[in-house]
Amino acid sequence: MRIRNIGILAHVDAGKTTLTERILYVTGATHRRGEVHEGTTVTDFDPQERDRGITIFAAAVSCDWAGYRLNLIDTPGHVDFSDEVERSLRVLDGAVAVFDGVAGVEPQSESVWRQADRHGVPRIAFVNKLDRPGADFAAAVESIRDRLGVVPLAVQVPIGSEQHFTGVVDLVTMRALTWVDGQLQEQPADAAEFGAARRRLEEAVAELHAAALEELGAMSEHTLRTALRELTLRGDAVVVLCGSAYRDKGVEPLLDAVVAYLPDPAGDPGADLAALVFKVHAARPARLTYLRVHDGTLRRGDVVWDSDSGRSERVARILRVQADRHTDIASAVAGDIVAVAGIKTARAGTTLSTRRNPVLRKAPRSADPLVSVA
Ligand code: GDP
Repeated sequence: MRIRNIGILAHVDAGKTTLTERILYVTGATHRRGEVHEGTTVTDFDPQERDRGITIFAAAVSCDWAGYRLNLIDTPGHVDFSDEVERSLRVLDGAVAVFDGVAGVEPQSESVWRQADRHGVPRIAFVNKLDRPGADFAAAVESIRDRLGVVPLAVQVPIGSEQHFTGVVDLVTMRALTWVDGQLQEQPADAAEFGAARRRLEEAVAELHAAALEELGAMSEHTLRTALRELTLRGDAVVVLCGSAYRDKGVEPLLDAVVAYLPDPAGDPGADLAALVFKVHAARPARLTYLRVHDGTLRRGDVVWDSDSGRSERVARILRVQADRHTDIASAVAGDIVAVAGIKTARAGTTLSTRRNPVLRKAPRSADPLVSVA
């Protein structure tokens, strides 16, 4: 199964928790709908977090979409926890930056964006809360250009606004997507009405991507998608989508965009093991060590060396964390993110390996977009 390791980056209150909940719901990872104000959300499972109403501790949860395993790595949205943001950015391959449709880019979204820049994390953007009074997609897109200094490529046009926001026109597929009671309905978009918007998107893409220029005027969906992917991986532009997490609008096309535009993980399953610990959760009954396998394959029962302490420990269980439950798995290959039980002392930031002196290499990042498209 192919993998996307992604984080959701957001200013506190932009709707990251709600969006994460909706992703888990839409992908079938949860069957109950968590509500932030009821304190029942899956990702904010620490009581301290619930009390403070902000996401303090990172957690990684897995779900499946369109033949891909999505590992969602929670990243704190509060500047006070910037060490933890840094650590989570090291294990991500890509991110969804969430903005408030009324406020647009806010100071904290700007600082998290800069951190992601330093780590070279390819991003797509989601302008949330389009159902709110005063929400303005076009203005939010312009604030991305002005405040983040990156070329925004809006691949959707909202249908209706504020309380009448009902869906989006996807300019890549030229389909109109609407949600009625959370159910997605799809039909061809009116070419006469949305042809000009599609043409403007093609022109913006062609300006940045020479290969796309050749098809200007009759750009195929494939060409547009490939060009958008390459621009995203290079960081030359950011694809912008929109919706309302709270009203269950826009989540499915966002997941399609995660699969289409964000990178595949790199790493060699046949190499010696190198796994980065990015989070330790001292939860009962077992201490869980969240790690990313950068290279090699981690197997249940392996004895691993902790590069910080020099100690060796045995991997008793490997767990895939799926929202509110854990599934035991026998092994995890390069690129995957899992939790391990049985490791007693390893701390966040250390590397685990099956050799005493591991060769640590920097996590490779989407160097060649064409390789990952294959
Ligand atoms: P976080 O701090 O980024 O995790 O944001 P939350 O998911 O906790 O959301 C903050 C507040 O915004 C909560 O009261 C949510 O119910 C609300 N909210 C989230 N998404 C939307 C949305 O799409 N529309 C509206 N109107 N409110 C939303």
